[in-house]
Amino acid sequence: MSSTSSSATNSSRTTSDRFIASAEAHSAHNYHPLPIVVASADGAWMTDVEGRRYLDMLAGYSALNFGHGNRRLIDAAKAQLDRVTLTSRAFHHDRFAEFCTRLAELCGKEMVLPMNTGAEAVETAVKTARKWGYQVKGVPDSRAKIVVAAGNFHGRTTTVISFSTDEEARADFGPYTPGFEIVPYGDLEALRAAVTDDTVAVLIEPIQGEAGVLVPPAGYLPGVRELTRERGVLFIADEIQSGLGRTGRTFACEHEGVVPDVYLLGKALGGGVVPVSAVVADADVLGVFKPGEHGSTFGGNPLACAVGLEVVDMLSTGEFQQRATELGEHLHAELGLLAGAGTVTEVRGRGLWAGVDIAPSYGTGREISEQLMEKGVLVKDTHGSTIRIAPPLVISKEDLDWGLAQLRAVLS
Ligand SMILES: *Cc1c(COP(=O)(O)O)cnc(C)c1O
Repeated sequence: MSSTSSSATNSSRTTSDRFIASAEAHSAHNYHPLPIVVASADGAWMTDVEGRRYLDMLAGYSALNFGHGNRRLIDAAKAQLDRVTLTSRAFHHDRFAEFCTRLAELCGKEMVLPMNTGAEAVETAVKTARKWGYQVKGVPDSRAKIVVAAGNFHGRTTTVISFSTDEEARADFGPYTPGFEIVPYGDLEALRAAVTDDTVAVLIEPIQGEAGVLVPPAGYLPGVRELTRERGVLFIADEIQSGLGRTGRTFACEHEGVVPDVYLLGKALGGGVVPVSAVVADADVLGVFKPGEHGSTFGGNPLACAVGLEVVDMLSTGEFQQRATELGEHLHAELGLLAGAGTVTEVRGRGLWAGVDIAPSYGTGREISEQLMEKGVLVKDTHGSTIRIAPPLVISKEDLDWGLAQLRAVLS
């Protein structure tokens, strides 16, 4: 706290302060950003309007897995900008089939339904599961139930916040959409008890990101897979944050050898360039849609497909997954030392992704994030005492070590 208020009086911050004051006056206060105003970025580094450089250890909550200004992604976008950017789905365009085919292949599935934001992919999955439930499973009209986990984060739309357990996300936004059952995350018996003949889907994050990078107990995801298969229920894995290389695999589910019925993808699928999300499943699931039943003006547009296709190409070699594995081992070894020293109380995560609980005597997650910002490292707090670390997968080991040294300095 003190570090930011003292720097706010520093004359070198006047440009930033002007931008921030103007943003606060003319935009809704639905976020509480750190007081940095970014002007440009490259790789794992961002530069603010006063020319200060910061190491990005958040990567847009995994939307920037391939780093800022990734050459391949920018080139793919620029080439497409000069050809055609938007057609709507009223017509076919020549990037659509290739994107859907290649993404389905990456997922080992048959079909893709492209949308834009993560929340839209979740909404689309809810509609898919319900329609599948009535038409394929034979659930009586309007009885479909979807089981979700406490502590979930699936987006911000009215239906999605209807099954959130975060009061801040829900309060005063009712009436809420019915048809959801909430069970504790990681508790297979609670899930078993909640599934009925009317259950059409279980929707979970294989690792809960927003909740603080919570990894469920070993055996949980295979247990969910077995239970849903037994009961004829769709297993929908929200891999919007955990997927596409972040954990060292293409999908976090892979760590437990689990293949869900439906993947939800977003964030990194747009390469940090454009919003691209998708629901990916086999034809017996996504085949329930007929013309007119669902859509999006921008979903699957040529620019989105060109960038998404490049993302799929980049992931198909495994090099980014390998990098996340190797750098992730290093990250977790270093964070483990901090835990050993007592400055952090718990470290969770997989690959290049960590939730770090700071010992309360060192300050709140917000205070630590602000102190790190002063030292040139950007992370973001969640749930009071936790900071999330998720640098772009292209970060160098030297930069990662430098970032960790700043964290050690803040906690000393
Ligand atoms: C970010 C996120 C979403 C929502 O994505 P938006 O693009 O912000 O709508 C949904 N699920 C998970 C797991 C996420 O991390």
